[in-house]
Amino acid sequence: MKMPVPDGGIIARRREIVEALRAIVPGEGVIVDENELRAYECDGLTAYRQLPMVAVLPSTVEQVSRILKTCKAMGVKVVPRGAGTSLSGGALPLADGVLLGMGKFKRIIEIDYANRCAVVQPGVTNLGISNAVAHEGFYYAPDPSSQIACTIGGNIAENSGGVHCLKYGLTTNNVLGLEMVLMDGTVLRLGGRHLDAGGYDLMGIVTGSEGLLGVVTEVTVRILKKPATARAVLLGFPTSEQGGDCVAAIIAAGIIPGGMEMMDRPAIHAAEAFVHAGYPLDVEALLIVELDGPAAEVDHLIERVEGIARDKGACYARVSTSEEERLAFWAGRKAAFPAVGRISPDYYCMDGTIPRKALPLVLQRMQEMSERCGLRVANVFHAGDGNLHPLILYDANKPGELEAAEAFGNDILRLCVEVGGVLTGEHGVGVEKRDLMTDQFDEADLQQQQRLKCAFDPDGLLNPGKVFPTLHRCAELGRLHVHQGELRFPDIPRF
Ligand SMILES: Cc1cc2nc3c(=O)[nH]c(=O)nc-3n(C[C@H](O)[C@H](O)[C@H](O)COP(=O)(O)OP(=O)(O)OC[C@H]3O[C@@H](n4cnc5c(N)ncnc54)[C@H](O)[C@@H]3O)c2cc1C
Repeated sequence: MKMPVPDGGIIARRREIVEALRAIVPGEGVIVDENELRAYECDGLTAYRQLPMVAVLPSTVEQVSRILKTCKAMGVKVVPRGAGTSLSGGALPLADGVLLGMGKFKRIIEIDYANRCAVVQPGVTNLGISNAVAHEGFYYAPDPSSQIACTIGGNIAENSGGVHCLKYGLTTNNVLGLEMVLMDGTVLRLGGRHLDAGGYDLMGIVTGSEGLLGVVTEVTVRILKKPATARAVLLGFPTSEQGGDCVAAIIAAGIIPGGMEMMDRPAIHAAEAFVHAGYPLDVEALLIVELDGPAAEVDHLIERVEGIARDKGACYARVSTSEEERLAFWAGRKAAFPAVGRISPDYYCMDGTIPRKALPLVLQRMQEMSERCGLRVANVFHAGDGNLHPLILYDANKPGELEAAEAFGNDILRLCVEVGGVLTGEHGVGVEKRDLMTDQFDEADLQQQQRLKCAFDPDGLLNPGKVFPTLHRCAELGRLHVHQGELRFPDIPRF
């Protein structure tokens, strides 16, 4: 993985930069000690580590604005960070960059039940929002498995998803308004408490922009009333292909479950050993299908789902009979990643999306790849969305295994694109999938996306080295060509 070469001139000015930051954030808010910086050296993609030049922890919007303005004036790069749970290396620091930690923005500013929204600071955890409105029977729908730790600012940047996003939408469908600070210090407000906004959908652009366009300082999210009833069904299948067929058939029948997740045999066994969710151990694929709504509708839909599953060859079916049992069914799925961490020294979590119909084919091709490269894979899917999370098991202490796992992962993502899907479902591109962007987009597509980045951050100082495989200077976008063997702008890093 090549990152932009650190700028020695900036590193030489570290003392001056630290002093400028200390003038904005006094006391312990500026971190320079190597041991203390260690806490920020990586995010959830732990294979890549880099100490930042300095970390700064502002607590007001004014401080964020002044920090960005100062860094722009000094030509210093900035990497925003929430809780650091990104699995794509989005918050990986730069050796010549400032790490901007948003952890102090923890306040729930207002809960507005009349408009069914909550206004929160970006460092509030995803689960913290649901907890704050639970006593009134409300919740925030997108529910990443990391929801106990990840922040809403990080969710916006990655357009995060979760089990309930099949029916209730991803982060982008649940955000009504944003406040963000641009690299030049400008504070911008997008959307509000209303359902639609005039003009271009800038909030749609910012949601999923991976910290490359601005720093989010306030978020207005939609909150929903909890459904009257929710019950989950466990369905076991003799083959993963039959499980995949059942997913497609449920959706084709016009049923949109509250959640529909699938696990293969290695993932089922790991999760059951870890949390004792009551999963059957003699099936190759397990579907968890949750139906929610009024009780009579839920009963009716459960019968229909069971009928479809029987037609598709299900060999096991169990419907939750209590709230405890429903939560136990989900506990296994939500703990699947750490559970797999118990059966392998290391694992590499992939994230690609395919058209649902391609699931049986993709599962079969992944199995063939696994046998070819000699690395096991455990599969966990947001099956209803076609969002795959193959977990490639490897041992980083064995020479060559990390590289083999990465190559296997890249092949899986290329397969997703080949069958008509995309490189990411919810974890973002970051550094992890950056070099595969050319498999999905041609140069014209990528340049157009970078022009958009230039409109927000013309100097390319915000989170560089992420998402785009080639850095273009904004001035030369669209005009990059080799003339008589002479490359224009030879000083621009290409990695
Ligand atoms: C065990 C585990 C399970 C997970 N399960 C899921 C899942 O089910 N679904 C899912 O979608 N993801 C999942 N993730 C990935 C991760 O939790 C999400 O991507 C999450 O949104 C990251 O939030 P964070 O606060 O940790 O952000 P960070 O990791 O700190 O940062 C992520 C990105 O957001 C940017 N960023 C952070 N804060 C701001 C801000 N205020 N303004 C601008 N940019 C900002 C950073 O620059 C970076 O590019 C999982 C991760 C783990 C470790």
